[in-house]
Amino acid sequence: MSVEYEVVIGLEVHAQLATESKIFCDCSTEFGAAPNTHVCPVCLGLPGTLPVLNKKVLEYAIMAGLALNCEISEYSKFDRKNYFYPDLPKAYQISQFDLPICEHGSIEIETEEGKKEIGITRIHMEEDAGKLIHEGSIDKSTGSLVDYNRTGVPLIEIVSEPDMRTPAEARAYLTQLKKVLEYLEVSDCNMEEGSLRCDANVSIRPVGQKEFGTKAELKNMNSFKAVEKALEYEVERQKRVLGRGDEVVQETRTWDDSLNKTISMRGKEEAHDYRYFPEPDLVPMEVDKEWVKELSDSLPELPVEKMKRFVTEYGLPQYDAEVLTDTKALAELFEEGVTAYDDPKGVSNWIMGDFLRLMKEENIAVEESKLSGELLGKMLQLMDAGTISSKIAKTVFKEMFKTGKDPETIVEEKGLKQISDESKIEEIVDQVISENPEAVEDIKSGKGKAIGFLVGQVMKETRGKANPGMVNQLLRDKLMD
Ligand SMILES: [Zn+2]
Repeated sequence: MSVEYEVVIGLEVHAQLATESKIFCDCSTEFGAAPNTHVCPVCLGLPGTLPVLNKKVLEYAIMAGLALNCEISEYSKFDRKNYFYPDLPKAYQISQFDLPICEHGSIEIETEEGKKEIGITRIHMEEDAGKLIHEGSIDKSTGSLVDYNRTGVPLIEIVSEPDMRTPAEARAYLTQLKKVLEYLEVSDCNMEEGSLRCDANVSIRPVGQKEFGTKAELKNMNSFKAVEKALEYEVERQKRVLGRGDEVVQETRTWDDSLNKTISMRGKEEAHDYRYFPEPDLVPMEVDKEWVKELSDSLPELPVEKMKRFVTEYGLPQYDAEVLTDTKALAELFEEGVTAYDDPKGVSNWIMGDFLRLMKEENIAVEESKLSGELLGKMLQLMDAGTISSKIAKTVFKEMFKTGKDPETIVEEKGLKQISDESKIEEIVDQVISENPEAVEDIKSGKGKAIGFLVGQVMKETRGKANPGMVNQLLRDKLMD
């Protein structure tokens, strides 16, 4: 008899905060500088130096906590997490242990069964370690170099409750979390640059069992897709282990993207004892309630609220609202468009259709496109005025997207103005009729469909510039009773 298992997943997400300077010194956090140029005695951990907390870090951590429905601790402190590794010059990381800044939060995700709330256990602040660069691959490398630019860059670690039941739910959680942090602008969430990193704890248990199964910790997944794939692999692996009567061992496993599998890194016996103790160089934090209230009042509109407002305020379908609020920049483009041209669904159609398609084709972000809501509004007005047809509008749109030029200028420069002069169109209609006797015969014998062919011929003749309504009408007047 095969046992049915329930999957239990919890995630730990590290997000790099978008502050200009590091957490305990004023070195720059800029990514990509020459190695070891953004360092000072504090972040190099030289003896005799003292850390000073960057207030912006606390502010961003509290903002994230508020947006994720956490309680903000009135009293919080830093602790030392001790371990030895060459990327950590002090041989301890300043982190938070038993009194994190935020606790007991939640986030709502969309699942196949509808909305689901995932608990957030805690959010704490900590400093990042440096980066080791291995010559060649990590297993065959003959030497390692260390770059301390990242040492002391501020992070928040967001720990979820073990509330997720499928790898897809884990991915939905990460997507929603990333969206919230991006809307808050507390992190750029750039996974390629390592601003967002995720570890996953996963175990399985027979359906109905209360106790958790033994978990594995998964590391080194550098995309949401990789997280989902690693979890899927791991669930199946654990099922196989239990299925053959063995026990799952508690261990850390690394995801290998090229092999598409998880590989054991270290077992429990090698697990660290971090010997946490309160950081004696930093005073504990007493967080002013008034300040928290101020931050709470000044939080920007968050993705879920914005989505709901797009439905109620603009009368958009739920699907449109979801797509348009995917990023703050896209939502802003839409609202700018509606300000310039009061037809929310019309503006939405252009953004969801041509804009997203061009973005994908060019592989760029919203911010990199030259299009503005104002330009889109102007283009829609040109369509209303009959200056351009909807077909020509596609050409104009593409040009605006690439160059940011005014639609009127584009129409002028490319000679795209719609022909609405009836006598001019009639001339071409007559010409097309005389050149296509078969189609004309079809129409006269009742095959109305052939009208479409003739309209197409006129549009071709005018390179898409003839007013299609007029062409249609003229053909009908001339050929149909
Ligand atoms: Zn420094």
